[in-house]
Amino acid sequence: MIDQHTQTNLSDEWLAALQASGYRLTAPLRVLVVLLANSPRALEPVELYDLARREYPRMGLVTVYRTLDKLQELALVQRVHRVNGCHIYLRAAQGHEHVLLCSRCGRAVYFNGDDLSRLSADLAQHTGFTIQEHWLQFLGLCGDCQS
Ligand SMILES: [Zn+2]
Ligand SMILES: [Zn+2]
Repeated sequence: MIDQHTQTNLSDEWLAALQASGYRLTAPLRVLVVLLANSPRALEPVELYDLARREYPRMGLVTVYRTLDKLQELALVQRVHRVNGCHIYLRAAQGHEHVLLCSRCGRAVYFNGDDLSRLSADLAQHTGFTIQEHWLQFLGLCGDCQS
């Protein structure tokens, strides 16, 4: 799990990465970055917009979409397609981290420790591929959403 200290550092890291890529760190950008980096769940753009307006009333929905695009380009945020066709956004997994996502409320749990080396080796042998990486994501219902 992520403690508050780590989360604070994470939004600072994102802001530094945005600045290094030439983006101006405007007030609305800062608000969006702090909200996303600290969110325990994946958010729809409109949800993020509603949260952000509480802290920055003049927030525009276009700014929200643009910021999500920038963060996705920098691989800080990942987009997940939902069955209903809309997209939700959550912080990207870092290093060898994977995500377990609640398909109802969007709660995201990050974990390490899958061992896919056997499967990977078998696949490589049967297909002749050289496997470079894998993408793994679990979907389910969190404890709160099961009742
Ligand atoms: Zn849930
Ligand atoms: Zn893995």
